[in-house]
Amino acid sequence: MALTTGQRALLESLLLQRLHELQRQIALHHGDSRVTHAQELLEARDAGRDVDMALSNLDLRELGDVSLALRRVRGDDYGLCADCGGDIAFDRLRLEPWALRCIACESAIETRQRRQALRVSL
Ligand SMILES: [Zn+2]
Repeated sequence: MALTTGQRALLESLLLQRLHELQRQIALHHGDSRVTHAQELLEARDAGRDVDMALSNLDLRELGDVSLALRRVRGDDYGLCADCGGDIAFDRLRLEPWALRCIACESAIETRQRRQALRVSL
């Protein structure tokens, strides 16, 4: 296991902090009803329904990532890269506790996306 209990606790509190920040931001920009709406969407997504298209707003998407990470933070697969299965560095998790991939896999995806975007614009 890569992460200690103390590290997990720290990351969990960072996630909670971010969650509250995002909720406040969304409420500020879109009103409280939007927060309720966002949470309904997230619950629907967790129930397996496809609502990703509805989460086009960046704040809402991040809220989804953060609340998903909060659910995973105590599980065995938290802190492991979704692509290569390797450990995600704690320094990276401290900056982005909701990260799903290690730096190598993340930058590989970003390069691929940039190439695709380039191809589309040509
Ligand atoms: Zn990886």
